[in-house]
Amino acid sequence: KAQAAVKIAKRSGKVEIYRNGVLKEAQRRFTLESKLRDALAQGGLTLAFQPLIHLQTGEITGFEALARWHDPELGHVSPAEFIAVAEESGLIAPLGRWATYEATQTLSRWDAKFGEPLPVGMNVNLSPIQMARDDVASMFEEALHYSGIAGNRLTAEITESAIVADPGKARKLLVALKDLRMHIAMDDFGTGYSNLASLHSLPIDILKIDRSFVFSMLEDRDKAVIVRTILSLAESLNLRVTAEGIETQELALELQRMGCWQGQGYYFARPMSEADAFDYWRARWNFETV
Ligand code: C2E
Ligand code: MG
Ligand code: MG
Ligand code: MG
Repeated sequence: KAQAAVKIAKRSGKVEIYRNGVLKEAQRRFTLESKLRDALAQGGLTLAFQPLIHLQTGEITGFEALARWHDPELGHVSPAEFIAVAEESGLIAPLGRWATYEATQTLSRWDAKFGEPLPVGMNVNLSPIQMARDDVASMFEEALHYSGIAGNRLTAEITESAIVADPGKARKLLVALKDLRMHIAMDDFGTGYSNLASLHSLPIDILKIDRSFVFSMLEDRDKAVIVRTILSLAESLNLRVTAEGIETQELALELQRMGCWQGQGYYFARPMSEADAFDYWRARWNFETV
């Protein structure tokens, strides 16, 4: 019966189509991996910076550094795709190192341009695989040392899966980052497996509510309930909350009303180049933006 099915599939070309699909995907992976390796070695990646806004005062508190890759042949490759390739190929450690150095160097270039340290911080994303494979604490220590940036201007964005993977190792790392005076944010909060006990016992400072809960919370009661629950959980545990994916003024005002600390989203600004992000900050740093 199975053989007959294969014969029919072969005759109808389905097996060929399947093989071509798998082959194409493998080829793209292979191409992406070798091009990403070259881009990392030759300075082909850039960072984009998206402002983080204090929802109660409207002040710009910092920026999230987001990796960008434009390849001459492939065009713009999304972080979702190339971060996954980096994680599968071992390139995530050098990519993460590059992003951390670049983020701290950007802060120090902004400080130099302004003539004194900007009252803003920088958030850097950490992949769970990078955390498992690389010495992330000494990476931050070196980046802070070479840039002269104070540790309390940096926030490491980690995910729930990094803690689930190896709680002991995660604790050691987070304690080491706190010794550098850095802040720790739990990114995409609500989408993974969260151990509430670990939220309480690990030195976590901030929960970032995933944008899948934020963007539809005005129309979808379930989403609003989740956001409200995260806010009250955070209050009980003495954590601050950042809402990501704020695309409208209505959302910004509602989250402000709910007492949410910080916001991020296209309503305020899209991720920008280093120069544009500096200009954005300089034009608004003493004005309200909410
Ligand atoms: P993330 O850390 O959760 O970053 C937030 C993502 O939401 C960014 O996508 C940002 O552009 C997007 N975003 C912000 N505001 C809005 C909004 O109002 N509406 C919508 N629709 N989207 C919004 P991006 O830049 O494509 O990055 C995707 C993911 O790739 C990031 O999610 C992060 O997990 C990963 N990533 C990016 N750069 C790095 C990096 O340097 N290292 C690591 N390990 N991961 C990175
Ligand atoms: Mg993030
Ligand atoms: Mg996020
Ligand atoms: Mg994410």
